[in-house]
Amino acid sequence: ASLPYIVGNWKMNGTRAMLNEARAIDRAAARLPKVQVAVAPPATLIYRTRDSVELIGVGGQDCHVKESGAFTGDISAPMLKDAGADFVIVGHSERRTLHAETSEIVKAKAEAAHSAGLAVIVCVGETEAERDAGSAEAVVGAQVEGSVPGTDGAVDRLTVAYEPVWAIGTGRVPSIDDVAAMHKAIRVKLVAIYGDAGAQVRILYGGSVKADNAAELLAVPEVGGALVGGASLAAESFLAIVGAA
Ligand code: 13P
Repeated sequence: ASLPYIVGNWKMNGTRAMLNEARAIDRAAARLPKVQVAVAPPATLIYRTRDSVELIGVGGQDCHVKESGAFTGDISAPMLKDAGADFVIVGHSERRTLHAETSEIVKAKAEAAHSAGLAVIVCVGETEAERDAGSAEAVVGAQVEGSVPGTDGAVDRLTVAYEPVWAIGTGRVPSIDDVAAMHKAIRVKLVAIYGDAGAQVRILYGGSVKADNAAELLAVPEVGGALVGGASLAAESFLAIVGAA
């Protein structure tokens, strides 16, 4: 089985001062060879972060579907690669909600990222209303089906992150049973899509992962790591999660 993968998503946080946190994370990660660690800083910091660290992965938080063109404010996958990124997060719920990204768009972004030589983290997750309506697994299953890349060899550079929308930044997390059930459902879906190779894709849990719940969440079958928001903004709290893996 692959190493647990702990990824910090800084979202729209961080100026140059944050490079100190990246360096501290990198130094600590060097002493923890049994965990794969990465951060996704804002695009403005990708190049400097890459320059400041040796071991950890560095990624973008979104990319455009096209390689270049008249798309003011957007950033393409080849640009992320050129800036030193190894991977990109696509389909985060904040993109799906605030930028009206459909699974079709997310899939195109994932494929653009693969074409540019980046690994991809595809995010999925239900809203609270969808969970209350009993449709969480159906919603997430459809998101997985619609969003994962069809690129040749896609599974080798694909991670899926399950992030229930209602658990992001709220301090609320699903029950361990619900996390286990959803990760199992995602696994079944990935095997249906990719065949046996779908069994190798890591599935991260994200949503209010903190030092005090990380060990329990990371011990759930089919949870291959964590996608961490708020607690990834300081090396100390992020490393406590890395240490729990
Ligand atoms: P929080 O860890 O702040 O809940 O954010 C999770 C997330 O959205 C990571 O992508």
